[in-house]
Amino acid sequence: MAYDDQNIFAKILRGEIPCQEVYQDDHVLAFNDIAPQAPVHILVIPKGAYISIDDFGVNATPEELKAFYSAIDKIVSDKGLKEAGFRCIANTGENGGQEVPHFHMHILGGKKIGPMVSS
Ligand code: AMP
Repeated sequence: MAYDDQNIFAKILRGEIPCQEVYQDDHVLAFNDIAPQAPVHILVIPKGAYISIDDFGVNATPEELKAFYSAIDKIVSDKGLKEAGFRCIANTGENGGQEVPHFHMHILGGKKIGPMVSS
């Protein structure tokens, strides 16, 4: 599957659509989810054109990988989520419920997040 550069996160990265920015560096952008499912609900995305977690994991450079997971560490520290804990979710493909075909990691926290999957 080819990367669709008209997806909404690609538009956010190009500045065509606004976002509530939480963090940014050379390789990563993080912003608040527009429809939060928890008191803290942040989306972390690579700036590179990666469709999914598996695409990113296999094709990203070591610098991009380090920057991505370092950004998550910085965000959860800054938001005070480390002690109580948090959940990261990377919905992938149709069965995973992925709506936006640009890899993104949800960070959810600020309350008990509940069951891992809905029944
Ligand atoms: P997923 O189902 O994993 O692809 O999640 C996509 C997420 O993107 C959902 O939680 C949406 O609420 C969120 N979302 C969609 N459009 C925007 C936007 N413009 N700004 C922030 N979050 C968005």
